Amino acid sequence: MTQGRHKTAQGAKRMKSIALFGGTFNPVHFGHLRMALELRQALNFDEMRLLPAHLPAHRDNPGATANQRRDMLLQALQECRELSLDERELRRKGITYTVDTLEALRTELGTKVSISFCMGLDSLLNLPRWYRWERLLELAHLVVVTRPGWQLPQAGEVAALLSEKTAAAKRVHETAAGCLILREQTLLPISASCIRQMIKAGHSPQFLLPDAVLQYIQRCRLYLT
Ligand code: ATP
Repeated sequence: MTQGRHKTAQGAKRMKSIALFGGTFNPVHFGHLRMALELRQALNFDEMRLLPAHLPAHRDNPGATANQRRDMLLQALQECRELSLDERELRRKGITYTVDTLEALRTELGTKVSISFCMGLDSLLNLPRWYRWERLLELAHLVVVTRPGWQLPQAGEVAALLSEKTAAAKRVHETAAGCLILREQTLLPISASCIRQMIKAGHSPQFLLPDAVLQYIQRCRLYLT
């Protein structure tokens, strides 16, 4: 694990870099884990943290509670030391806005650590509807995963943001926040909702998620109704 500032092979200053990958993880599956691991390796982050979101009680039920979603992530991460869990949104009462999470993290880490918030292109297209979205890039970099064949918007607020803020991936090691990094990556065709439906229908989702997570689901009899 790298700590603080140190030199890259080229001699440029390199900041400590922390990336966050948010989601509901209900349940966590290989699509999430591959995406997070590939991003960490491709952008050479010092840390990649999975950040489960708090959900309103009616969205947790009858699926899994916040504690169960956290336990499944812990099971999954036992098999992968390159990813870690950030529980801060689960610990907060009520819904947390991403901007509040990033404010808290920035206060904790100070201004000399690079923070990257990772999201899909679909989330970027919705960004102008996020609470205090203009503040996000003051607090962190945005790493946007595009799928092969997807078109970037040509007009509007997001197009303007793309043309103003898009930067090379190495910028996440040179500055603490403020860049938009585009990264094309192929996604595994797996979704948590599909896994929940399979279980409800009595089918096995084996090979779509870690065995330890599947065993936890079976032990706790999750997603049956
Ligand atoms: P659901 O099917 O319940 O909507 P999901 O599988 O899409 O869930 P989320 O927890 O909602 O998972 O998503 C967390 C993050 O993971 C999001 O940024 C989402 O874009 C991304 N993601 C979801 N599925 C995949 C996948 N197959 N490959 C890579 N990333 C994924």
